[in-house]
Amino acid sequence: MSPDYRAQVLQAVDLVELISQTVALKRRGKNYVGLCPFHQEKTPSFSVNPSRQSFYCFGCKAGGTAFDFVMRRDRVEFKEALQILAGMAGIELPQFGGGSHGASERQALFEANSAACRFFENLLWDEAQGASARAYLRQRGFTDDSLKRFHIGLAMEAWDALLRGPVGRKFPPHILAQAGLVKAREGGQGHYDAFRNRIMFPIRNESGQIIAFGGRVMPGSEDPAKYLNSPETALFSKSRSIFGLDLARQRIVETRNVAVVEGYTDVVMAHQYGATNVVSVLGTAMTEQHVAILRRFADRIVLLFDADSAGVAAVDRTVQLFLTQPIEIAVATLPDGLDPDEFLLKQGLEAFDRLVSSAPDALTYAWKQMAQRFVSSNGLTDQQKAAAQYTGLLARVAASGSVEPMRFGAALARVSRLTGIPLAELHERCRPKRAARSVAVPVPAAAGESGRAAERGRPNGQDLAERWILGSLLLKPGCWQDVQTKVSPEDFADPQRKVLAELYWRHQRDEGEPVFSEFLAGLSEDGMKVLAIELAEEVEQLEDLDGLLAGAMEHLAELRRKRESCEAMNALLHDGDGPMTAEQEIDLLRKVQQTKVVPDARSIGPRVG
Ligand SMILES: [Zn+2]
Repeated sequence: MSPDYRAQVLQAVDLVELISQTVALKRRGKNYVGLCPFHQEKTPSFSVNPSRQSFYCFGCKAGGTAFDFVMRRDRVEFKEALQILAGMAGIELPQFGGGSHGASERQALFEANSAACRFFENLLWDEAQGASARAYLRQRGFTDDSLKRFHIGLAMEAWDALLRGPVGRKFPPHILAQAGLVKAREGGQGHYDAFRNRIMFPIRNESGQIIAFGGRVMPGSEDPAKYLNSPETALFSKSRSIFGLDLARQRIVETRNVAVVEGYTDVVMAHQYGATNVVSVLGTAMTEQHVAILRRFADRIVLLFDADSAGVAAVDRTVQLFLTQPIEIAVATLPDGLDPDEFLLKQGLEAFDRLVSSAPDALTYAWKQMAQRFVSSNGLTDQQKAAAQYTGLLARVAASGSVEPMRFGAALARVSRLTGIPLAELHERCRPKRAARSVAVPVPAAAGESGRAAERGRPNGQDLAERWILGSLLLKPGCWQDVQTKVSPEDFADPQRKVLAELYWRHQRDEGEPVFSEFLAGLSEDGMKVLAIELAEEVEQLEDLDGLLAGAMEHLAELRRKRESCEAMNALLHDGDGPMTAEQEIDLLRKVQQTKVVPDARSIGPRVG
């Protein structure tokens, strides 16, 4: 990726505005502060510096540029964060791999869908033509606000309403066919509307672009298909699409919980009652792809089953996901055979949130179900079957390596209590198969653990000097010309700061004075970013920076001189030709000893000590 685009995007995006989308920020001095979206806290330690276009959390040490924020918030890689931010800023990026033809075709499909959505929506709100559909939706309990928020519309009972209307006039039939809005007539010429006499639910991607439609049949229709989705298109894949995610996204990020219900009407209703972290998958089963998308926003996925849908197959499938996906997946059943909207209507939002937050994980849920079956069954074979079924599940848990030994042991103990099978035997049956362990996910290194360990104690002069020099350079890149005549990256003793100095020197040499946020964006290692932000923060608090910088440079230069003379004397000691006299040796040793005394912090600035 060319750094030009990176810089272009960074310049175009306002970090305060971006972060304000998810965090309530308050002005405090030069900065904005708010509650950190990346860890739980009650007092704000999350700060955004508008002039440097960087953010930093004093609690969890998350920090960086707009790219880092989006990467963390949406759990995406850099490339995707770049695309998201470029999209926000209206900057067109070159296509990677897809080719510009593919991009313009996708754009045409998006536009066709969006035009079709307006067309359907206009019909629903048309005084005469939408009257019966509106009456039906209101009778089902939908408010006008909900209908408008989800852009719900109406497809006429006609074969060519869309084709002959403004959408058909603007887009050629082959584009409409590719978007799944019309179909080619069999064996003949021409096309016909794919959706007829249906309530239309636009399906949007997480950014709010319409990728498909779901149509629910109007009451009284002869059509046997109650629900009809767009076919798979270049924009739409059922196994990857999540209905309502664009509208649910914010509360999902805030609560780190997402509730998954069964159909679009359930989603619209849940949002209507204020449960706005509710989405649904399209089709019957949740896939790994769905989980991967939701995992970017949530730490926990709660599947809401009603009494009908909590069948064995669905539960097994959920446990399977729980075993293989690195996220907590929980299951809640709605009591008394209620739909989500009936539940919300009767018990309210708080009860709904409680239901979601107290839902047991999939494995516990499966256990409860099996135990129930087991207790109610009389025949010994049924009991054995139930136990075998659950131990089978547990064996898979063990194989996935994703469950803690404590939880695993407790689960086995439950089986043992109920079946009388000795625990040891159960352990034997479920022996973990290590080979099946999933690929390790790289965890960001605990940034600069070793480097900062020293800082926890009393800082010594070298520490301060290194920090002040780097911090000054980051804040005022103009002073590098002077600094580099006295100090070089090799003078930094702390390994992390040395790396940062090397990167900084290289940037100055190759690309000139760095703009802070752009330099930060170029630091690929997590720890480096945090270090750079901390140094800039620290130095910004200091008074008489020029004086301190001069002292710090002198300090490092002095240390280098001593190091060099020490090395020279060591060399003399070891490589000198001929034996030294005792006096010579003592004299030399004394000099070596002196150079090893590291000056303390007081020597580099009057404010320290
Ligand atoms: Zn934090």
